[in-house]
Amino acid sequence: MHWVDVYAEKLLELGSNHIIESGTGISGQPHLGSAGDIIYADGIHKKIIEMGGSSRAIWAMDDMDGLRKVPAQLPKEFEQYIGQPAFKLPCPDGCCDSFVEHFTSPFLEELARADVKPEAVSVAQMYIDGKYDEVVRIALEKASEIRVIFEDISGSVREEDWLPFFPICQNCGKILSTKAYEFDGRKVKYRCRGGIAGKADIPGCGHEGEVGIREGKLPWRVEWAARWSHLGVTCEPMGKDLTAAGGTYETSSIICEQLFGSKAPMPVPYEFIVMSGKKLGKSIGRVLTFGDMAKIVTPEISKYFFFRSQPTAHKNIDFEFAIPKLAEDYENAERVFFGDTSNVPEKEIEDIKRSYELSQISGMPDAPGQASYSHLLSIIQTNLDLEGNVDWDGVLKTLARTDNITQLDERTMAKGNAVKTWLDTTAPEDVKFAIQKEMPADIELNDDERKFITELAGAISKVNWEAGLIHDAIYETSQACELKAGQCFKALYKIFLGKNRGPRLGFLLASLDRDFVVGRIEEATKI
Ligand SMILES: [Zn+2]
Ligand SMILES: [Zn+2]
Repeated sequence: MHWVDVYAEKLLELGSNHIIESGTGISGQPHLGSAGDIIYADGIHKKIIEMGGSSRAIWAMDDMDGLRKVPAQLPKEFEQYIGQPAFKLPCPDGCCDSFVEHFTSPFLEELARADVKPEAVSVAQMYIDGKYDEVVRIALEKASEIRVIFEDISGSVREEDWLPFFPICQNCGKILSTKAYEFDGRKVKYRCRGGIAGKADIPGCGHEGEVGIREGKLPWRVEWAARWSHLGVTCEPMGKDLTAAGGTYETSSIICEQLFGSKAPMPVPYEFIVMSGKKLGKSIGRVLTFGDMAKIVTPEISKYFFFRSQPTAHKNIDFEFAIPKLAEDYENAERVFFGDTSNVPEKEIEDIKRSYELSQISGMPDAPGQASYSHLLSIIQTNLDLEGNVDWDGVLKTLARTDNITQLDERTMAKGNAVKTWLDTTAPEDVKFAIQKEMPADIELNDDERKFITELAGAISKVNWEAGLIHDAIYETSQACELKAGQCFKALYKIFLGKNRGPRLGFLLASLDRDFVVGRIEEATKI
């Protein structure tokens, strides 16, 4: 059974009403991994409903958290806001009402285009509106119990007068620099003495004051537990490091049960995504988002990336070389879904079909897609005008010849546009080519290559113009000349593309006009 369905069934055994939560810290543009968190939650949420249970998918924006450092994508001036809660920060470009809106609106729109529409909840707003009054009061009154739990589970020791609350300093506006030390049942007294966030020192301003319980936040482990209890969360995907023994999840679960009398949610541990082997950090260079991915492979294929394997499976994404392979895996799943199971082991069929189904965004299609990503990659590059725009009529003409397609449907256009975007953005030079309208001037052929080309000139003119047959003719000619096929392919890439490598030759040549190809090969016999 697919892992999404396994979780949904386990949850339904526990009860029929569910809240599936996901959550993201807002310190800039949420990256691809944050989208995965929500996509996992959405899959389980939808399955519960499908099985007759009731479910809400809630996405908590952690906008009460203080800004720890300034990610590369933000202007340097943002250094003045370090330590302040995200919900108070301005829009970095001046285009919308707030920092949080600036980063969360496009993120949610991109997900919505993939039919992932969680209810977004601002954590800061929950504090401000008093929704957390009860849990904050409990936490403050039972501070010593929490201190013991922290110490027992994770070995972290707090000061005697420690309180689980970070007031927002009324003088400097920071939340990462304050220490609360007294609670009289109504107000919290604090000192802005400075704090540490990760590796960063957050200096305090020295202010002493007192605030109400809506003007600050609980420490993360307590807040997580408070949220589970307040919202009634029953399931939550989380980075698998959080679920280690003595880790955040265990601590929060105990707080949730002992202090708030609620059961902790079922965790769905997942592996972090790595980008060409490196962790997808929010503050390292450019952020790769779900929207970026959806634009270069379509939203369906992007979702497939998350559903095709267990959440705990290793997930490496490379926006350069891995893209056609990812698209190919998806197209393979599509063929399996529509009944062609010849290339997959029996025991994988059910999961592959289900992963495909989970990746759809507007109902199930009634037939496989018209053209593959790799095929479009080649055809689009043979149909670019001088400005680099796609000549879609030309693409259709080629597809009519190679695949008997008479009209470009919506899915093919979406895939074609994705291919073009990839070519224009992160595609490596290796996959790019341009058909040389004239014989490239500076190429050389050796004796073997010339012999092959001369033989091929005779053979190619008799071939039916289909990719497979063209490929066979090239291969057989190379064998007849007792030459390595690779060397012969290289000779053809040189005379058509002016470079040593290119896309699959059979497809490439089939997508070109037959007379043009025959003429160019004949011309090459004279080099
Ligand atoms: Zn803005
Ligand atoms: Zn201060």
